[in-house]
Amino acid sequence: MFWKCSFGDATSDSSQADFAIIGLPFDSTTVFRPGSREGPDAIRQASQSLESYEYYYDIDLADIRICDLGNLELETNPPLAWKAIKDTISALPKKAIPVCLGGEHSITPPIVEALAKQGDLGVVVLDAHLDLRDEYGGTKLSHACASRRILEIKGVCSFASIGIRSGSREEVVFAAENDVSYFTSDVIHEKGMDRVLDSALKSLECQRIYISIDIDALDPAYAPGTGSPEPFGLTPWKVRQVIKRFAQKAVGLDINEINPAYDNGQTAILAAKLAREFMAARVATNGL
Ligand code: MN
Ligand code: MN
Repeated sequence: MFWKCSFGDATSDSSQADFAIIGLPFDSTTVFRPGSREGPDAIRQASQSLESYEYYYDIDLADIRICDLGNLELETNPPLAWKAIKDTISALPKKAIPVCLGGEHSITPPIVEALAKQGDLGVVVLDAHLDLRDEYGGTKLSHACASRRILEIKGVCSFASIGIRSGSREEVVFAAENDVSYFTSDVIHEKGMDRVLDSALKSLECQRIYISIDIDALDPAYAPGTGSPEPFGLTPWKVRQVIKRFAQKAVGLDINEINPAYDNGQTAILAAKLAREFMAARVATNGL
């Protein structure tokens, strides 16, 4: 493990922790605008400027046991990275909820595989992209295949992606033929997030939920520092609603695809804030 500074208010040790921050600096399948491997440290640095008191939830993160485990040293070879991520999540103390900082979106399937081994898991993905390709750039483990790989994992009992506005025709056909539940940013804009989440929750009838936030789900106006920005995206308020609705059942979260090379700091601070709001929301609904 290595890192430059810890995530803000992460002062607990791992054996006591309610939340474990883990940096996953992996971006070796990214062909267009790589650099998300620098994401974890940019998010940590941004987190230092935020108050420990989370005003929206009336929770002080200084009262929560948060541990920063640093960055996992990952090979550039995707199967080796997958195994290292899965093993790390599996080895966490039972009560520590993982909060993983990417890295590209291919960090998510191995986290999901580890958590799905512990019991049935519903997965909610926020993303501009369907990520349903079977293969991309010569590998099935590409970040463009993240949701497709998640759907194949044993123990994943339900799935929904939110914020979708990009994909190939083949991905759209695959989703239709396989009943993959997804909600576009247009539908959210027209009907409102609450109504969309009511529908999403129906397809996610699971006691344990995992949340994966590809930062490009948000509009590039809010999150320009990412590999594949896509206009007509979500606002931070909409993403807050998703976190709030799912936090009670959440057994983990990741935030991925933050690329500091294309950022003026606003993407990193947004990622840091969303990670903090997730922990505050979890504690606000379930207690410590
Ligand atoms: Mn993605
Ligand atoms: Mn995406």
